[in-house]
Amino acid sequence: MEYQSTRNAAVRVTATQAILNGISPDGGLYVPAELPALSRREIEQLAGQTYAQRARTVLRLFLTDFSDEELDSCIRAAYPGRFAEETVAPVRTLADGTHMLELWHGPTSAFKDLALQILPHLMRVSAAHAADGQEIVVLVATSGDTGKAALEGFRDAPHTRIAVFYPENGVSHMQKRQMITQEGDNVTVCAVRGNFDTAQTAVKKIFTDADVRALLAKHHCRFSSANSINWGRLVPQIVYYFSAYADLLAQGRITMGDKINVVVPTGNFGNILAAYYAYRMGLPVNRFICASNRNRVLTDFFRTGCYDRNRDFYLTSSPSMDILISSNVERLLFELCGRDDATVRDWMEQLRTNGRYTVSQPVLEKMTEVFYGGTCNDEQTAQTIREQFEKNRYLCDTHTAVALNVYQQYKNDTGDQTPCVVASTASAYKFPASVLQAIGVEPAGDDFEQLDQLAAVSGQPIPAPLRALRTKQPRFTAVKDEAEMCPFVLQSLGISGKE
Ligand SMILES: *Cc1c(COP(=O)(O)O)cnc(C)c1O
Repeated sequence: MEYQSTRNAAVRVTATQAILNGISPDGGLYVPAELPALSRREIEQLAGQTYAQRARTVLRLFLTDFSDEELDSCIRAAYPGRFAEETVAPVRTLADGTHMLELWHGPTSAFKDLALQILPHLMRVSAAHAADGQEIVVLVATSGDTGKAALEGFRDAPHTRIAVFYPENGVSHMQKRQMITQEGDNVTVCAVRGNFDTAQTAVKKIFTDADVRALLAKHHCRFSSANSINWGRLVPQIVYYFSAYADLLAQGRITMGDKINVVVPTGNFGNILAAYYAYRMGLPVNRFICASNRNRVLTDFFRTGCYDRNRDFYLTSSPSMDILISSNVERLLFELCGRDDATVRDWMEQLRTNGRYTVSQPVLEKMTEVFYGGTCNDEQTAQTIREQFEKNRYLCDTHTAVALNVYQQYKNDTGDQTPCVVASTASAYKFPASVLQAIGVEPAGDDFEQLDQLAAVSGQPIPAPLRALRTKQPRFTAVKDEAEMCPFVLQSLGISGKE
């Protein structure tokens, strides 16, 4: 299978190259030249399989230049034993019938682990294919959870370095603590003055800067990305939507062919896009419900067809969704406008220069046929956490609460009773202060006392890696302006920018 750029159909690369490059040199994102499919029979068969087997079924359709042995070695290293739940991504059905797809049983307690536990292995194999002896330099901009998951995935990976940038005041205490205490000889972490969009735009710029790339090549290094712009990050996320459907089949909660709704708390649009790809491959889905916090750029987009980032940016209690430029929308547009690279290029250029673009009427109609956008503020988020805890005895984090709140709004709006899978994207223990307040307990003391408080009221165990942070010393305290990010990267690589 070949991959092309959303901004230039003439670009053709292998899966290996797409994963190594991260982003196309024209600034576009790599997409499969055509989407593979799973038949009804193949989907039904997933029901009797382990997560690793399900991953193999899906990944081999996309990573066609990986041998079965290579793929298996990646899957084996990533999933079995690395997650606190043997099933990796279990589905828990609430008393009211909502199916929670729990994606936070990995080492960093957020859904990013599902992709970032395997991406380093996909890169290792890709680098071996390229056989050019270059070191990989992974650059990451994070709204909180990607950073830690990437650091944990890539720490001490051979021939690989990783630098993570997070918005100085835009992540939770626990998220920051997870990152600045990261162990490993090949890692560095830096706070950026600005918000996530500042960091993401700067990282994209460093990637596509021809001079910087040439400088790196001279030192036998190449950039790659662990953000969801990287195809190797998205493709493992497709797996768990099939896995959830297979679990519901196995539990007899649906029969093959029944449609489901999918609700995803959304920021950069990677997770929900993976669900959309699953749908295009044959997963029976009725509606994708895209849940945003107060940064409601996507809600407005799905309602009006105008993507407009010219608006105030808010810090919310769901920081991993505090984003105004959702990169992966570009891939959705590419699919919806008939894979027309010139149109996508034009819209993305308008976004860059004017901060907005408006899609055509036919594209808007296609969009609203399958997507529903909704938004929820911090107060509603807290209220939802409390309701879930009181009614269902279910403890959810702030991001998952945004999803549950918007799902309720959707049901009120439409009366749709289709079985529904909600992506539960983080452990409540990553946001202890917000969750405690929501359930009516005054947070006391430091982060770790709050973890204990939450465990006492909920009776649920604290994830071991979060508990272990208590004794770890901060290693990374640098704070930089956007303009200093590139020099920081070069310096951390021991490369002088003057050459
Ligand atoms: C990253 C993240 C999101 C948003 O996911 P996208 O793929 O960026 O849309 C939602 N919830 C949590 C907990 C996250 O870490």
